Amino acid sequence: MIIYMVISEGKNMAVKIILDAGHGGYDNGASYNGRLEKDDNLALTLAVGEILQAQGYEVEYTRTEDVYDSPLQKARIGNDSNADFFVSIHRNSSPTPNQYNGVQTLVYNDSGIKADMARRVNAELEKVGFRNINVSERPGLVVLRRTKMPAILIEAGFINSDKDNELFDAKFSEIAEAIATGIDDTIMAAGLAAAKQEGTGVNASDYQKTGTYMKDHDWADADSEDKMQQGTGNTNMQYQILIGIYRNYGYASYYMKQFMQEGYPVEIYKDDGLYQVRVGVYNDIREAMDAQKNFQEKGYATLIVRAN
Ligand SMILES: [Zn+2]
Repeated sequence: MIIYMVISEGKNMAVKIILDAGHGGYDNGASYNGRLEKDDNLALTLAVGEILQAQGYEVEYTRTEDVYDSPLQKARIGNDSNADFFVSIHRNSSPTPNQYNGVQTLVYNDSGIKADMARRVNAELEKVGFRNINVSERPGLVVLRRTKMPAILIEAGFINSDKDNELFDAKFSEIAEAIATGIDDTIMAAGLAAAKQEGTGVNASDYQKTGTYMKDHDWADADSEDKMQQGTGNTNMQYQILIGIYRNYGYASYYMKQFMQEGYPVEIYKDDGLYQVRVGVYNDIREAMDAQKNFQEKGYATLIVRAN
């Protein structure tokens, strides 16, 4: 792990948070009785952003409109923003309606400031009335894995739970407040409170680079870890399993949901007017080949492709 020494230039930058409203454009995310996850995600994300801004944070978004970017593109938007934290907002979905309810926050691994933030967000949402499922590790999720900064993904209740939807609609502002409070409390507890006010001299990015809350992995670190594990030099590549190409978005979306329900990270990648359903993110070709065997046994004709 490389630790950079940072010489303070005396700049007083605010803590920057990039908010990611899950899905968008032709990717509706989950849906239930005409209710689309992408819309709930965007509304809640913008509301959270407004509160954080009012609290003195610098806020950016991966999207503010109904547009599609792949999870990898979203991670890149996050990385390019040089934000200190990446917060993705989604709604959960269960295989059958009203099977589950509650909030869950996902992290790459359960350690560091992101895990603290995840717990605080869950606890605040519990106060609003949601069941608190847990903090769960999802190292395969691209927006958690490929972002350089501490990242969390909030599942703000199940979109196919009537109970959660009632709460979501009735207490929308309180839910946004709860998420903002969880984020703010984490940053305050980490001693970065001063950083959100101008003129107090703490730059959150400095902490990040000097390791106070350095992410357990980032692009560079993940690559070097991979190198050590594989004993190979060329490791910038990641792989996915292409399980189908469809002219019709509906079919692609149907298969995406099938795999999501089995717990795989899935993305729809649009290329040349066709929708590719891609499963997983694998860090080396052997891992991808093992996974491919699995899918072939289930009857899918698959291809291993490079993650874009
Ligand atoms: Zn989602």
